[in-house]
Amino acid sequence: MSAYVFYFGGGANSTDPRSRDKTIAGGKGANLAEMAGIGLPVPPGFTISTEVCATYNANGKSFDADLRAGVAAGVAHVESSTGRKFGDTANPLLVSVRSGARVSMPGMMDTVLNLGLNDETVQGLAQGSGNPRFAWDSYRRFIQMYSDVVLGIDHHLFEDALEIVKEDNGFYADVELEAEHWQALVGEYKAIVEKALGRPFPQDVHEQLWGAIGAVFDSWESERAKVYRRLNDIPGDWGTAVNVQAMVFGNMGDTSATGVAFTRDPATGEKAYYGEWLVNAQGEDVVAGIRTPQYLTKFARERAGAKPLSMEEAMPEAYTELAAVFELLEKHYKDMQDIEFTVERNKLWMLQTRSGKRTAKAALKMAVDMVGEGLIDEATAIKRVDPMALDQLLHPTLDPKAERDYLGKGLPASPGAASGAIVLDAETAQARAERGDSVILVRVETSPEDIHGMHAAKGILTARGGMTSHAAVVARGMGRPCVSGASSVSIDMNSRTLKIGTRDLKEGDIITLDGATGDIMGGAVPTIEPELVGDFGTLMVWADKHRRMKVRTNAETPEDCRTARSFGAEGIGLCRTEHMFFDAGRISAVRQMILAEDEDGRRAALAKLLPEQRADFQAIFEIMAGLPVTIRLLDPPLHEFLPHSDAEFAELSDAIGIGVETLKRRAGELHEFNPMLGHRGCRLGITFPEIYEMQARAIFEAAVDVALASGEAVVPEVMIPLVATKKELSILKALVDRTAAQVFAEKGKVLDYLVGTMIELPRAALMAGEIAEEAKFFSFGTNDLTQTTLGVSRDDAARFLSAYVEQGIYARDPFVSLDVEGVGQLVELAAERGRKTLPGIKLGICGEHGGDPASIAFCEKTGLDYVSASPFRVPIARLAAAQAALG
Ligand code: PEP
Ligand code: MG
Repeated sequence: MSAYVFYFGGGANSTDPRSRDKTIAGGKGANLAEMAGIGLPVPPGFTISTEVCATYNANGKSFDADLRAGVAAGVAHVESSTGRKFGDTANPLLVSVRSGARVSMPGMMDTVLNLGLNDETVQGLAQGSGNPRFAWDSYRRFIQMYSDVVLGIDHHLFEDALEIVKEDNGFYADVELEAEHWQALVGEYKAIVEKALGRPFPQDVHEQLWGAIGAVFDSWESERAKVYRRLNDIPGDWGTAVNVQAMVFGNMGDTSATGVAFTRDPATGEKAYYGEWLVNAQGEDVVAGIRTPQYLTKFARERAGAKPLSMEEAMPEAYTELAAVFELLEKHYKDMQDIEFTVERNKLWMLQTRSGKRTAKAALKMAVDMVGEGLIDEATAIKRVDPMALDQLLHPTLDPKAERDYLGKGLPASPGAASGAIVLDAETAQARAERGDSVILVRVETSPEDIHGMHAAKGILTARGGMTSHAAVVARGMGRPCVSGASSVSIDMNSRTLKIGTRDLKEGDIITLDGATGDIMGGAVPTIEPELVGDFGTLMVWADKHRRMKVRTNAETPEDCRTARSFGAEGIGLCRTEHMFFDAGRISAVRQMILAEDEDGRRAALAKLLPEQRADFQAIFEIMAGLPVTIRLLDPPLHEFLPHSDAEFAELSDAIGIGVETLKRRAGELHEFNPMLGHRGCRLGITFPEIYEMQARAIFEAAVDVALASGEAVVPEVMIPLVATKKELSILKALVDRTAAQVFAEKGKVLDYLVGTMIELPRAALMAGEIAEEAKFFSFGTNDLTQTTLGVSRDDAARFLSAYVEQGIYARDPFVSLDVEGVGQLVELAAERGRKTLPGIKLGICGEHGGDPASIAFCEKTGLDYVSASPFRVPIARLAAAQAALG
């Protein structure tokens, strides 16, 4: 038997542990094996390993003899378990062929159902089931799906043919068609295939099977799957498994049904079964939005005020069995499960279980609740919540007091509030978002092709589809607010207009969505900031208990400092002082300083800036109330401050009394070809020491004033940027020390302070041992360190880096997630050499990577003392640091 094929179900589960390993068997395959193993009713089948996907795609899409033998044996296993035979005219076995990657990629890859039907086996199915209508309906479904997925024939051709049959017979819904109509339609479908391909629809069931297996592997390389992988950081070499499984039928009449369910509410986290089902239907009917699915439980139906009976009421026995399965699965997996099931003539079958996707709010609630229920411990709860998902909770909700112009309502598919201009297709969404507009994507329903538009949009509104529709599932995963199934929305793509209820709107009009209630409103409704209490607070307390590294913030405005503190920042890791100089009231003085011909001119301008800088630092020291504050002296490329337009030169000339021509000449002298590698960072301090002297004075004066006024300790940390050599630091440290001594003498108060440096150039990392003789702390500036190590410009990288990530040259954008292999080595080496010179030297990171969970894990491994992240990333960093500490 092939090492790449694993059986499950039918009492013959594979004993190979790889059959339950998601990396090998894929998520779906591993969970089917697991469910069969704990005795749940799983239709028998087999899984082809993810490893085959890579060889198939590398070897010119061919299958080897070993795999062929393995699949033949797998089919034999399903045949003997079901007592049916593949291709048999009397008692045919039908199978489904589904993808299943290591992590779920909803709707991204292909599925074929009812495989094994042909002109002869359809007769056997009709006789065996005693239901010819069902048999012919299944056959036409199969032809349509197989033609779409495997043969590449446009599915609209089939849908149009069905519409004509309905029209000719005066039918409205599919359920009105009888066996003879479906049979006639099969004839037409086969003609469509023959016309499109120039050969008949494949009748050989083995050819069908291999076609479907190949198509699933091909779909791993489809454009939409690639986009999804890129958005979700899924490596291309993982591959997908293929699951071949005996079909069970939810469309065999009124004692049959199919549904999807969650063991807890995936939107709120509430401990209540949650799901949708349809009587007499096949799986894809529930998610396709053709019929409106019904509530699973009586409780949910009553709460929604809906009429059609819930499964609990309509099929009490099957429901009771299902509820018992829910309980068993939660105990077994110790997590909320997302389940697909089918009832075939009152017999329950489990088709899938997996850990369910959930909103951040639900993830938090479930993690905290499950600790309370004794199902998991605190450490597991911490690991359960994706730090990046917290982002969803840190964003605003609608102000309850704000006026609202209600247009309509849909299902509350993904929480959060968003306002923006209506866009009607994914391309427009992306184009307008790239121009900086907030947009709301409004569609009849979304499909995987819309994924880039959904990502670009601030919110998503669909006219059709339930809570488990594509739009709902994908939006929840992306953290976008979504209102689905809003039937009062009608869209006219020709005129690019729409109606919501009675109101006429057009593309570009502003609307607001509340994904937590399903409300659709006209205009932009004001929002309020979230409160970080409840489950969020609980989880953060646990995270703080388990983490080792401190979490600081990158902030320079009082507002950012306050936000960061409310998010739990334990200090400022980077205060970028250049941001303080762009202020309209100060820029002239800054330009005067830069363009001054000599030191006296510079000192005159700096004298104007000193009181302003002092006030900046005072405010920060007050807000941070004794927490450590690292202030970095001026770093920007000088040219960023230069005037550009004639009007700016004229204005500056008036303000400082120097002629325009002189100013232009001086600006020309300062022009640089590579400003990022030019006159910036400590090079400014070396050439214009009076600038750093002014800043140091402002820092120490502010620190002493605040210390005296508050009676609290203020310990400023003065940081020198872009150091490459020990000598640069020695010169500038001496300047800072001198200034501190002067201020302390003037004020009659001495404070502790530290002088340290950024490590953001490869030379600084290499020479860290020597530099540590002058520095009390290192802060890794991994933005510049990445730029200079990779030789990739931070500002130009966006144009080509995505191609690098797509081709797997870098697994992720190295400016977002630290290139641990390369740049990481420099960080490790500098940390080691710095510590050797100065044991206990304080080490932190302040590049953007300080807010990225994977990079934070690296910082933990390297033993850094703290990470510093932008204010909204502080909670993410706290949780990620705890996860990293827990390993
Ligand atoms: C860095 O280079 O990582 C850094 C934090 O400094 P800046 O981004 O301001 O250059
Ligand atoms: Mg830098």
